[in-house]
Amino acid sequence: MPEVIKVEQSRQKSFTLQIPLVYEPVGMFDAAPDFMQAQTLEELYNRIHTCTKCPLGSTRTNFVFGAGNPHAEIVFIGEAPGADEDLQGEPFVGRAGQLLTKILASINLSREEVYICNILKCRPPNNRKPLPSEVEQCQPYLYMQLKLINPPFIVALGLTAAETLLRRKLRMAEARGRWYDFYGARMLVTYHPAALLRNPELKRDTWDDVRMLRKAYDEYRQSGRLPEPTVS
Ligand code: SF4
Repeated sequence: MPEVIKVEQSRQKSFTLQIPLVYEPVGMFDAAPDFMQAQTLEELYNRIHTCTKCPLGSTRTNFVFGAGNPHAEIVFIGEAPGADEDLQGEPFVGRAGQLLTKILASINLSREEVYICNILKCRPPNNRKPLPSEVEQCQPYLYMQLKLINPPFIVALGLTAAETLLRRKLRMAEARGRWYDFYGARMLVTYHPAALLRNPELKRDTWDDVRMLRKAYDEYRQSGRLPEPTVS
């Protein structure tokens, strides 16, 4: 039996991510955008993969939706596709992605068990940071993805992802190693694998963070209880 099926069957059933619908109708006949009617990730992909809501839609090679188990209990979220991801249409496939695969393996997780995606679905030119206007346009897609996956654990890879999701300015040294509440899910913040490639000394902290994740995840699978948030 494929591992992904085993994961789906053993999933805790009681958890529901309380992520808000980001659309508010402005008039009686105003309807929610088409993508918000999606019932599955595949439907969502079909409704948004030709998006050109922001200028990145005209400079991308490929739209990078996300990959992994559609019923994952842990979702890893990075910043935006890079050059390799843009070429292949898959998230985290370059050197940083290979390192992420190793980090997952170090806590006995495979890419197929978890879900991996980014805040933005299209590559910013020269890998620059996403602009606030791009994040604003793209974030509803991510929220819809999270609503459909319904993960009890979320890992923000890097400060851009963490600050976008938590809507506050953070310093990595203070943000990592803590549990945040994210609409009922528990969110951990750690370094983006690309930062580890630039500065291998950060690996030790990252390994501590993912071990913390593994421990809490094992406890959740045994008891159904999530860790208490350590930051309000
Ligand atoms: S980055 Fe997001 S909002 Fe911008 S074009 Fe791509 S999918 Fe659309």
